[in-house]
Amino acid sequence: MHTSYSRIIENAFEEVKALPDAGELATYIPELANVDPSKLGMHMTCIDGNHFGIGDDLHKFSIQSIAKVLSLTLAYKIVGEPLWERVDVEPSGTKFDSLLLLESYKGIPRNPFINSGAIVICDILMTHLKDTKVEFLEFVRELSDLPKLNYSDKIADSEKRTGYRNVALCNFIKSFGNITNEPEEVLDFYFDMCSLEMTCQEVSRTFGFLANEGCKISDGTKIITKNKCKRINALMLTCGFYDESGEFAFRVGLPGKSGVGGGIVALYPKNYAMVVWSPKLNKHGNSYKGMELLEKVTTHSEMSIF
Ligand code: GLU
Repeated sequence: MHTSYSRIIENAFEEVKALPDAGELATYIPELANVDPSKLGMHMTCIDGNHFGIGDDLHKFSIQSIAKVLSLTLAYKIVGEPLWERVDVEPSGTKFDSLLLLESYKGIPRNPFINSGAIVICDILMTHLKDTKVEFLEFVRELSDLPKLNYSDKIADSEKRTGYRNVALCNFIKSFGNITNEPEEVLDFYFDMCSLEMTCQEVSRTFGFLANEGCKISDGTKIITKNKCKRINALMLTCGFYDESGEFAFRVGLPGKSGVGGGIVALYPKNYAMVVWSPKLNKHGNSYKGMELLEKVTTHSEMSIF
């Protein structure tokens, strides 16, 4: 890690830490509502293997929708281009759990990163894998170099108890014929997928392959082709932040993905994967301080894709 770079991160971190408190914790399940709101961490993994972390970057948090990039990667790897017949590649401009556009687009979700799209991706994985939960977990274990990584039963159970909108989404899509498995089973996998807990350091390592043209940073294993990697990054840039994707590209200038646990992963292709975590969310459901921190780092380092 270039020292000037780590200094930029340290300075940005101190500035953001000192910002007045803003935003709200996600409160729909106790596992998110009871997190210490003052947590702030950041970790960057560079494609040359160097890495740098600050603050609470070694504290586990619920990665939630960040996992949707990993399920998409696995489905895209298995199915290839026909995947896009089941889910579109357009920003939705709506909330993450919106049912609105499904009616107009006949059950084809606008993109794989809103809940409707991620649920269809889960359905596709279930059709192609024998034991979806086990095989998806193995995939993430391989990407993260965490052989003991597991789903959080506690988080998944809470999600299952409160996920009425996701149940509605899945059934609604099924009514158009774009869910082929039993909705209950698809949702069971979806909730498990969203329940993974990792640290900023672990997530930045896991996502390294998307900054490294589809190859794992630690051992060079090819996970996906360069072209698929390009497309997943493009989707993160245009659709990674619910109805705030334009704002994130405008302020931070990197492809990325957020989750309601307050985590954000952002990638600078051919350079690094960077993860921030701060649990309080802005009104669009994205980490308030996380976005501030990423904006300061890309602005002060003058390193963004634009
Ligand atoms: N498990 C959450 C849900 O499905 C994920 C939301 C998110 O991180 O966007 O509602």
